[in-house]
Amino acid sequence: MTLLRSGSATDTGLVRSVNQDLAIETSNLFAVADGMGGHAGGEVASRLAVDALTAAFGRQPTGFGLSEAVTEANGVVWHHSQDNPDLRGMGTTLTAVALVNEDGRDVLALVNVGDSRSYRFHEGEITQITTDHSLAEEMVRTGELTEAEAAVHPHRHILTRALGVATDVAVDLWRIQPVRGDRYLLCSDGLTNELTVEQIADVLASVSDPQKAAELLVQAARTHGGSDNITVVIVDVVVGEDDDESAPTVAAVNSDFAKPPPLPQGFSPTEAGVIAASPAAEKAPPGRRERRRAKRRAKRLARGRRLITFRTLLFLILLVAVLAAALFAVRWYDTNSYFVGVKNNELVIYQGRVGGFLWYHPVEVERTGVTTSDVPSLYLEPLKAGVEESSVGSARTYVSNLVNDKQSQQNPAVLPTTSVPAPTTSTPRAAPTTTKAGGT
Ligand code: MN
Repeated sequence: MTLLRSGSATDTGLVRSVNQDLAIETSNLFAVADGMGGHAGGEVASRLAVDALTAAFGRQPTGFGLSEAVTEANGVVWHHSQDNPDLRGMGTTLTAVALVNEDGRDVLALVNVGDSRSYRFHEGEITQITTDHSLAEEMVRTGELTEAEAAVHPHRHILTRALGVATDVAVDLWRIQPVRGDRYLLCSDGLTNELTVEQIADVLASVSDPQKAAELLVQAARTHGGSDNITVVIVDVVVGEDDDESAPTVAAVNSDFAKPPPLPQGFSPTEAGVIAASPAAEKAPPGRRERRRAKRRAKRLARGRRLITFRTLLFLILLVAVLAAALFAVRWYDTNSYFVGVKNNELVIYQGRVGGFLWYHPVEVERTGVTTSDVPSLYLEPLKAGVEESSVGSARTYVSNLVNDKQSQQNPAVLPTTSVPAPTTSTPRAAPTTTKAGGT
């Protein structure tokens, strides 16, 4: 007894105006179609193909039946395009997986035409089952291109096989043993053109809910460009064969499952290929830490490329805070300093440091109206250099003291009543100037 659980998501992407992709999920049949053709061609082709596939498979729900259903869908799309000049040239890719019962055993039948893909995720390892029917892929097979070159090759979108473009079509078919815990990913090229297989595997490894995983994959493809329609179907084998080394698997009994041949390199399209879940676990299941790491990578993937990590951000915040504090201190030091200077023979109170401090230049705060002739000449030299004061108030007092000093020197009689001792030696308050003056 095999039980499947699935999820799917589709998105137009960021560049295309319509979504010509189509996904279906039924209890035992899952498919992705990527339609192509001008006008409404692409949408019509994928819809016709998927509907015809579902109907035909329903009549004959076997592996062979699934393959036949694809052939039938091809005929439906082809005839529809011949009957409607507007739709001529339309076609679609189609990849589908179905749970069928053959000889009393549950089997997953998988078919493909075109460059949509099916992957199997088994014990933390992702394997592409299908072969792209594209010019670039053929060139890889003949050795004209490397995989990396093919991924960006301008001909990667040119299909060598599609559904509905000719009277007949060759269908690739696989029969696979459903192993509990395995996931199957069906997707259009809008996913695989944006994400690497490692990025896809990270999501499959870390997000157990198939619906959430499908949505996350589509979102990630959008974040990474979304240059095409994106469609994802994920099918999980919830109940199935145990992939346990000690338990004898059906694969050992049924010759169909005896040995998994290498994935369809140079696969003859008219034959039915077979891959089987290898009964022995070649790899230990990913550990907890690895799963957690994969989860983090998956989350990052969905958010898109991040330029700064949390740690860098924290560092930058601290750096800015330190700089801000330093600036504040400098500014405080500057704005809490005053001096009296001379400008055009007038005594002026400045805020700031004499000669400026760092990039702060002294700011004129107040013109006193007192000229150099109003103060004793012996103060002129220090005044021209700038006499520091701690506040505007003390600067004013200093200036008025200078004026008083000059007046008392010139005109002692003007001073008020003799009862009050005249400040004959009234010394300016500012200490540095006073000592200097006194020393002269
Ligand atoms: Mn596409």
